[in-house]
Amino acid sequence: MLDTPLTGVSVYHAGVGRTGLTPALAKRFRSGRVSLDFAHTAGEPELAEPELIDGAPALQRWLSHVLDGADVRVDADDVAAALRLRTALWQLVHARTQDRDLPRRAVDTVNRFAVAAPPAPRLTLDGHVASGGVSAAEALSALARDAIDLLGGPLGHRIRVCAGPGCQLLFVDASRPGTRRWCSMERCGNLAKVRTHRTGRAGE
Ligand SMILES: [Zn+2]
Repeated sequence: MLDTPLTGVSVYHAGVGRTGLTPALAKRFRSGRVSLDFAHTAGEPELAEPELIDGAPALQRWLSHVLDGADVRVDADDVAAALRLRTALWQLVHARTQDRDLPRRAVDTVNRFAVAAPPAPRLTLDGHVASGGVSAAEALSALARDAIDLLGGPLGHRIRVCAGPGCQLLFVDASRPGTRRWCSMERCGNLAKVRTHRTGRAGE
């Protein structure tokens, strides 16, 4: 079993939920899509951020975080599989954001992960939904299915890379005109406004 004291699971069971992260970490989990949030666990070259998945305890923590506190069971063999799926997600998303054809191998990879059953909800005798344990295969299936739903759905061509310098975070532009540029208006959008303001004043 895992021996890391701070796994996501223990944190969430203490009622912290998806909060309790530093802003630098929290910004990576706000895309609104579990597949993109999971992609955001990557470091270089995909993101100019620290790699978050450096072993089974970290995979457990971040799968749990992305899947809203699910009690995910992970062992060492699951790490390579998870990273394979993550690489495929990045390849597919970047193909989309650059208007290229989807790479066949990445498509096959995501489809293969989606074959496994996703986490099943369980009804308890007293009429509540129980949060039972989730296997890594189930968790990765949920991510793959979300990616298929996103890429193949109406917002599949609205996946964007934030225009903030060095940001690289992904988001889904659900705005009516489809002109959203920033992962977050509060962060990258406001930084851009400040920069524009400074540039304007420098030119006076
Ligand atoms: Zn951004």
